[in-house]
Amino acid sequence: MNNNPVVCYIGLGSNLDHPIEQLKQAINELSALENSLLFVQSSFYQSAPMGPQDQPDFINAVAGLKTSLSANDLLLQLQGIEQQHGRVREQYWGPRTLDLDLLLYGEQVINTDNLQVPHPGIPERGFVLYPLYEIAPDLEIPTGKSGRESLKELVAKCADKTTKILNDDKVS
Ligand code: ATP
Ligand code: CA
Ligand code: CA
Repeated sequence: MNNNPVVCYIGLGSNLDHPIEQLKQAINELSALENSLLFVQSSFYQSAPMGPQDQPDFINAVAGLKTSLSANDLLLQLQGIEQQHGRVREQYWGPRTLDLDLLLYGEQVINTDNLQVPHPGIPERGFVLYPLYEIAPDLEIPTGKSGRESLKELVAKCADKTTKILNDDKVS
């Protein structure tokens, strides 16, 4: 356990079994995590699937958490929540009831077998960049060589045109 709370961001995605409800429930579960405080959540977005195209669009969001859990413990908690949502791993980048990715853990750069932070998909994924930018527009993403890349610039460069914000009437 790490006693100084760390600001981290979690990417949520679902394209099976009522994705909007899956995300709402997951946000409730994130807000109940031990030693953690959910302090912000983005709107919901809709995006075309990556990889196999014969699957439904995804619903995505990003949540901000202040946590005293270590990055590894947080990953374990996220995987526990995925399991509660009946996530089964079948096809790579295939459909799933819930995917929780640890996008950022403070300023830390982590490169272990089971955890890479910042999540390597951030720079090119509109379904991560747009919701993250909505809730943390001034964020700088550590690149690993003690460098940083501004989220604002990544958003400006992003080629993904499939990600659309969902209006409140579709979410409620
Ligand atoms: P992608 O990571 O490209 O979005 P995915 O979410 O479909 O793909 P999963 O099957 O959910 O991939 O996860 C595969 C493994 O990724 C997990 O077992 C986990 O150990 C590892 N992993 C590495 N870095 C992270 C991270 N930052 N957040 C979540 N899982 C991670
Ligand atoms: Ca993912
Ligand atoms: Ca994942």
